[in-house]
Amino acid sequence: DRINKLNRYSSNVNKYGLKFNEKLMGTAKGGQREGLADADHDGKLSIDEIMKVLEYDVAGANDTNEEIVDENMDFYKEVYSKKVTEPKFAKLTYNEVYDESGLKRVLSKDEYPRANATLLTLVRNKELRAIVHTIRQIESTWNYHFHYPYTFISDEEFTSEFKDTVRRHCSGEVFFEIIPQEIWRKPSNIDPEQEQRGIQRLKDNGVQYADMESYHNMCRFNSGWFYRLEGLKKFKWYWRFEPNTDYYCSIDYDIFKFMEDNDKTYGFTISLYDDPLTVETLWPVTMDFVKQNPQYVHPNGAFQWLTDAVQNPTYTKQANGYSTCHFWSNFEIANMDFYRGEAYSKWIDALEAAGGFYYERWGDAPVHSVGVGLFEDKSKVHWFRDIGYHHSPYKSIPNSDKCTAPEDSGYFAPEDVHRQNCLSNWIKYEMTHKELQQY
Ligand code: GDP
Ligand code: MN
Repeated sequence: DRINKLNRYSSNVNKYGLKFNEKLMGTAKGGQREGLADADHDGKLSIDEIMKVLEYDVAGANDTNEEIVDENMDFYKEVYSKKVTEPKFAKLTYNEVYDESGLKRVLSKDEYPRANATLLTLVRNKELRAIVHTIRQIESTWNYHFHYPYTFISDEEFTSEFKDTVRRHCSGEVFFEIIPQEIWRKPSNIDPEQEQRGIQRLKDNGVQYADMESYHNMCRFNSGWFYRLEGLKKFKWYWRFEPNTDYYCSIDYDIFKFMEDNDKTYGFTISLYDDPLTVETLWPVTMDFVKQNPQYVHPNGAFQWLTDAVQNPTYTKQANGYSTCHFWSNFEIANMDFYRGEAYSKWIDALEAAGGFYYERWGDAPVHSVGVGLFEDKSKVHWFRDIGYHHSPYKSIPNSDKCTAPEDSGYFAPEDVHRQNCLSNWIKYEMTHKELQQY
């Protein structure tokens, strides 16, 4: 039956069955590696141990392995076919209390004790309609219970039309935060000639937004700067949302408190490969950093997901060892104190010095993902199987009575982009049996 089948899929991939493993081994190095969490070390990894789990071998890689794409999509659909409700074995908080006579009462906006959290979006005035489209869905599926505040960020002043309109749609307090130009703009260490060469190369290879400077600014800002803004210092948690995205499912429990009470750092819905040309040196620069600072690598990191070379071996090859798998960051819920911490901060300094936000087009999604995957315990990463989500062209559609979506559950995207899906790697390599049973 389905539960038993799912049990076998649990990552302890060993349990998933040899068939998958054989294929892994046949295609590239990358079968389930020894977990290091229980290995003989004092809680910190040595360089040798780190390199052992981060090594990759893509000799002979030529193209996307279509057979594996199909197999992984089947696996994805199988997992999504399981009916989900709310997370099990977790502390969940609802906005209702029972009075002395046993009557249920909903707490008012002023009464409900919220977590230290904000909904957050970087957005332009011209995206007013698109952002309202999304706010309405976040409100009607979730925030009308809790009235969490919103923070709108931009590099340009918000118009009064923008401010008045979004205020009308937000049930929580509303903050507007303008990014100082010295944070938003390209930093002075970027060499114009090297930048020009890099951009031209990306452009010649058809990389989207290659020569759009504001896009590079945006990626850098979202990678290493937003959580340092004056107006965000007061918050610990954020839920990032974007214009024109959709939220399909009603959620009744407090998602921020779920993160806090269940010791999570980072939550996501969709996991994708990236265009390796945009991150060619992200991994080498990171490996240099790791060699200098092995103490920051968490023994229970998501190493295999980061270095996998099975479905798209050429990606790993072109990205010099990074699978390009990432959490899609246009939806993410995370603890900013992780970014503010020593490991991530020092690493961001190294990325800034290397200049890849401008010489290449390092995205905030791969940056957050590599940071979380290396420096945080993977058990603190939560895949939200109950949040239905859409940012063109990808969707996550749970099988749940609480969702309304145009497609059936398990729909991902048009077939020609199925190869971009790497959620099955996360499930197979990094989730425990218990985590897979949580919904
Ligand atoms: P894509 O999802 O990678 O195609 O990129 P988007 O165009 O959706 O940009 C990502 C997020 O950053 C969205 O929320 C945009 O509104 C926002 N954004 C992108 N560029 C700028 C910019 O120059 N200024 C501001 N204020 N927001 C931006
Ligand atoms: Mn977008």
